[in-house]
Amino acid sequence: MNWLTNFIRPKIRSIVGAKDVPENLWQKCPSCEGMLFHRDLNENLNVCSHCGYHMKMGVMERLRHLFDNGEFTRHKVPDVPVDPLRFKDKKKYTDRLKDAQHKTAEKDAIIVAEGKIGGNPVVIAAFNFEFMGGSMGAAVGEGIVRGAEIAVQHHAAFLAIPASGGARMQEGMISLIQLPRSIIAVQMVKDAGLPYFVLLTDPTTGGVSASFAMLGDVHLAEPGCMIGFAGKRVIEETIREQLPEGFQTAEYCRDHGVVDIVCPRKDLPQTLGNLLSLLMQRSLATGGDRDAGRRQNNLESSNSLKHLKNNVTALPTAGKRAAKSLKNLVPANGDLDGDHRTARVVKMVSLMEQDPEWKTVRNIETDTGRDTKKSKSLQISNSPTALPAVLPKPSPKKRYAAKG
Ligand SMILES: [Zn+2]
Repeated sequence: MNWLTNFIRPKIRSIVGAKDVPENLWQKCPSCEGMLFHRDLNENLNVCSHCGYHMKMGVMERLRHLFDNGEFTRHKVPDVPVDPLRFKDKKKYTDRLKDAQHKTAEKDAIIVAEGKIGGNPVVIAAFNFEFMGGSMGAAVGEGIVRGAEIAVQHHAAFLAIPASGGARMQEGMISLIQLPRSIIAVQMVKDAGLPYFVLLTDPTTGGVSASFAMLGDVHLAEPGCMIGFAGKRVIEETIREQLPEGFQTAEYCRDHGVVDIVCPRKDLPQTLGNLLSLLMQRSLATGGDRDAGRRQNNLESSNSLKHLKNNVTALPTAGKRAAKSLKNLVPANGDLDGDHRTARVVKMVSLMEQDPEWKTVRNIETDTGRDTKKSKSLQISNSPTALPAVLPKPSPKKRYAAKG
């Protein structure tokens, strides 16, 4: 039938006149099977207008949606050795890479961008699922490290947006090394006292969910997105049990404490902006006047907290985590002036504690015997002047003790 398609069709086209008609004007919703017009779908951020199903969203589109006024600067991800293992399955890895690069016009599966969300400086490392299923190889790991470095240098928050099938098989051990590398990178951000958020999108699986994606100060997720390590079928076959309905969805993960907030796509910029304003130091803008910064912070945190409590149902988990991370944040000598962020979190938790709703959360935290001790040190640290009752004695055996 080649002559029909190759000869007759072009002839007819030349007579009728070729028109630029997009191939798929209508798309079927995978959830409710409703028909969606491409323009409406675009306007609705790839969310089904019938049932609210969140389809995948292009990475550039997502960045434009999240950043204030859609403005951001892209940062180059450093080059990495290409195919050091000379891997070949049905196809050469280098060929697979070339195909993906041609298809997406990107070098690898990660994009590092910097801009503002709700007026707060943010660096985003976003996965491109179109590029080999967003798999994490050396280049992606490099992207996370680069993003974290820029966040620390520019005193910005760091937001990771995974959309990934996990580690990149074709890079073997090298892709697995990216797990600890990315963890160290995000720890760097935390050590600098900057917020690290994760926005979990469909799907977040494998090595990505086994590393940096589960270590955020706050975990946000899009409704219905798949979050897990191994797939449902694999687990069912291994443990020979039926898994519950909705297993590995964002909502299931929220109910079981993995995710803090399940947020519809359209509300993400606002929610992220509020959370960042709550945790970030605005004191930078006040030209180094620490007290002015703190006054502003306290005011904002109380306002933001009220807003969050009215709008977000799932925050107790975030509160729980904030209380936990507080234990690590407060310096041993109780010096709150030393760290703006510490003061901020102390304020946030004290606000929570005044509220009966949060009290239940705190009780769960302190009910277990192991945690009681920690909560005592928490109380001591809450007062700026008091020192902990027992200071750890310096051990002469330790090498660093001799150096002072
Ligand atoms: Zn639908």
